[in-house]
Amino acid sequence: MTTRPEAGELDPLSTYPHEYAVDGAVHLNGNSLGAPRHSLVGELDRLVSEQWARRQVQGWFQDGWLDLPRTVGDKLAVLLGAAPGQVLVAGETTSTTLFNVIVAACRLRADRPVLLIEAESFPTDLYIAESVARLLDRRLVVASRADFDTHLREHGTRVAAAVASPVDFRTGERRDIGATTALCHDVGAVSVWDLSHAAGVLPVELDANEVDLAIGCGYKYLGGGPGAPAFTYVPARHQPTVDFPLSGWHGHARPFAMTPTFEPADGIDRARTGTPPVLSLVGLSHALDPLVEVGIEALYQRSRELGELFLDHLGETRPDLLKQLASPRDPHHRGGHLALRIANADKVEHDLAAHGIHVDSRPPDLIRFAFAPLYVTADQVRRAVDSLCHVVQTMH
Ligand SMILES: *Cc1c(COP(=O)(O)O)cnc(C)c1O
Repeated sequence: MTTRPEAGELDPLSTYPHEYAVDGAVHLNGNSLGAPRHSLVGELDRLVSEQWARRQVQGWFQDGWLDLPRTVGDKLAVLLGAAPGQVLVAGETTSTTLFNVIVAACRLRADRPVLLIEAESFPTDLYIAESVARLLDRRLVVASRADFDTHLREHGTRVAAAVASPVDFRTGERRDIGATTALCHDVGAVSVWDLSHAAGVLPVELDANEVDLAIGCGYKYLGGGPGAPAFTYVPARHQPTVDFPLSGWHGHARPFAMTPTFEPADGIDRARTGTPPVLSLVGLSHALDPLVEVGIEALYQRSRELGELFLDHLGETRPDLLKQLASPRDPHHRGGHLALRIANADKVEHDLAAHGIHVDSRPPDLIRFAFAPLYVTADQVRRAVDSLCHVVQTMH
């Protein structure tokens, strides 16, 4: 049994939920779209009235707009276990960023014929990988989660790049970044990680794990807002050789020299593409502040506690539903979300929304529950379980 903290008991995270605008609802879909902070409106107002309106185009230099892809990247790097100068937010979508990085990974291994990806990957990752394989005339191997490491072990010397995620977007099941990356290095393949469902909720320790290239989404646990830009990680050791296909002028060594031929910038700046979306970058930067303040270990711990509370309470209320868990029961093998198999999942999602509980269903029968650590509370988790049991009871 998990008990309510005693009144007066010090909980360092207890003030954070008040900072977020959730309109009285329970948002268990933070792995899909994080909730906004109340203070975002003031932050954007300052950008518009004090910078843009006053200084117009000079804002690029005087207000640091031009540096935002790197300064926001450095702020985010802390959550990813990366030293400064290795994370960049160019302003692209997750999909275009992934395209840029998979092509660059294959270019690092020009003589290898295979691009490997996990079958359970998010659809856009599968689509982009297929397109890159076609473009670069490589063979795409789509290996099931269970066969991925085996393929690397047995045929890895033919693999140029191996694309995987530390958290399965459906079930929340974890893949060990360190072990798979080490396996890639044993066979000389480039490891590419999609951190979309991990960033902001799970420690990924990119430097310590010697990851080669990584990308991730800005609007899930990071909370950058709908369509927030994605990020790219390139460790210092790859920066001199990495060759991105999206060679836009902001990635040039001297963008304002306006020369006709491309010469990549030194360092992480070569991951830039074109003029960055300043409003979106400021929104993402603002969303990162409380996450950085709390730190990734404490965020992970809180998310895990909330997930365990959900399962414990479900087990006490409807043990039969707990048996429908599609995720590992051991919290160490899950990221920030979990999934239950429930018939008519889309109807359950809809009915829960009418109770003010926001979750998301994935066809055919999965409902995902995400435990964003800073705005989901223990009381909300109990309320969500009670509503779920009520909705399922009245439906079946
Ligand atoms: C959410 C998500 C995406 C989304 O891509 P967009 O271009 O932002 O729509 C891509 N990959 C993974 C693994 C995701 O979880």
